[in-house]
Amino acid sequence: MSDKKVRVRFAPSPTGGLHLGGVRTVLFNYLFAKKHKGDFVLRIEDTDQTRYVEGAEEYILDCLKWCGLLPDESPVVGGPYAPYRQSERKSMYRKYAEQLVGQGHAYYAFDTPEELDKNRKEIPNFQYGQAYRDGLRNSLSLPTHEVTELLNAGTPHVIRIKMPTDEKVSFNDLIRGHVSFETNQVDDKVLLKADGMPTYHLAVVVDDYLMKITHAFRGEEWLPSAPVHLLLWEYLGWKADMPQWAHLPLILKPDGHGKLSKRDGARLGFPVYAMNLFDAKTGELTPGFRELGFLPEAFLNLLATLGWNDGTDQELFTLDELIEKFSLERVSKAGAKFDFEKAKWFNAEWIKKSEAASLAPGVKKVLEDKGVVIADEDYLLKVIDQVKDRCVLLPDFYQQAAYFFELPKEYDVNAVKPKWTDAKTAFFNELIAKQDTVTWQAPDLEAAFKTLAEEKAIKVGELMLPFRIMLVGGKFGPHVFDIAQLLGKEETFKRIKTALPVFSA
Ligand code: GLU
Repeated sequence: MSDKKVRVRFAPSPTGGLHLGGVRTVLFNYLFAKKHKGDFVLRIEDTDQTRYVEGAEEYILDCLKWCGLLPDESPVVGGPYAPYRQSERKSMYRKYAEQLVGQGHAYYAFDTPEELDKNRKEIPNFQYGQAYRDGLRNSLSLPTHEVTELLNAGTPHVIRIKMPTDEKVSFNDLIRGHVSFETNQVDDKVLLKADGMPTYHLAVVVDDYLMKITHAFRGEEWLPSAPVHLLLWEYLGWKADMPQWAHLPLILKPDGHGKLSKRDGARLGFPVYAMNLFDAKTGELTPGFRELGFLPEAFLNLLATLGWNDGTDQELFTLDELIEKFSLERVSKAGAKFDFEKAKWFNAEWIKKSEAASLAPGVKKVLEDKGVVIADEDYLLKVIDQVKDRCVLLPDFYQQAAYFFELPKEYDVNAVKPKWTDAKTAFFNELIAKQDTVTWQAPDLEAAFKTLAEEKAIKVGELMLPFRIMLVGGKFGPHVFDIAQLLGKEETFKRIKTALPVFSA
């Protein structure tokens, strides 16, 4: 690698939410930059005003914040190459488009949208390019004086690249190796629009150059644009500074071929966006991983493994480990199938491995949103430690932990009631009566419980499940004596007393 400082960019268009593939693009850029002690730039590519969606930029920023992938330079934090929003850089692009016209690599096109529509309707597979450009209204087909007149009269026009005939352009992709294209197959893309805004093609090249980007990781869907970009780098005389590109493999539908889409998520019942996305126009809510209860650490971990592995069996990686281990050689060319069950596995593993304190804010929100009152933060941490192994998604903490804070709302007694006896009622009453002799540590409590059962000649197994149901309400949860220890003596006895009439009724 050259000794230039590594600079990568994530360059989203603010046209909606962030698909998980978009976040993986961010992640790979970020990992590469951090591994090489480089800079990670966020550039907002908002030159297509017709596709602009209110709030989309905030969504992207929030998402990067949630994931902890913070840019070193962005529209918010600024940086030496500001502005980082292309609409604010509008005045910078025209001169490059004009330079290309001057060199004969681009031309003015005066065709109106109506004329182009007509062509598209009448000519099958119409493309503005070498096959048709001579018959259209542009500075290649019209006499020079007419072009000058049209320009002087301020006639609306665009600037298009003139794709060369019969050439091959190629580059070395960091993931796919040698990639080449026939120029004949590519149309004359618009570079500068009639309103003076550049298109993506011109803006991405100019900005990658001006912002000294050294490496660009982007989705495979951008590969067809590469020949246009390659020619622009060459024509503008910047070829030596062209970033090295890596086109990342697609994230595929779990049950077929093709890119995983928002619709697949709705069809199969899982999110494909990072966070909830609300479309104010249609009222449609697209669900996100964050709101479903994924931890950002798990989300990043699962994205990293979609198309990359470290060559060992290791599957769980912290962000620091990913930075250390990430290498492009281990990114696969083939698309990666998305598996939601596996995604949930990552989350469950991350919940298990996280400290209670780091889970606490999310768990607290889950519980409080359901009306559970949490008075003691230390107690919350202990509860989290008790139940976290049983939770896959954050909302599972409600089912698994609410009973630590409030009496069970109902008792699942169907299985135990038919076998209930007065002797069992007596057992529990005596357990309470003996309270001063029972220390409140799980092992001691368990021993006392068993001794009493022996004395009363009742099988312990017949008492444990009822005890659990008295404390929890159902047949789930950690070891019952651990639950009792955490609830405390007073609360445990209160629960026994409250539940006994239900059991013996
Ligand atoms: N603006 C493009 C997008 O929306 C960026 C593609 C690229 O990285 O070159 O994804």
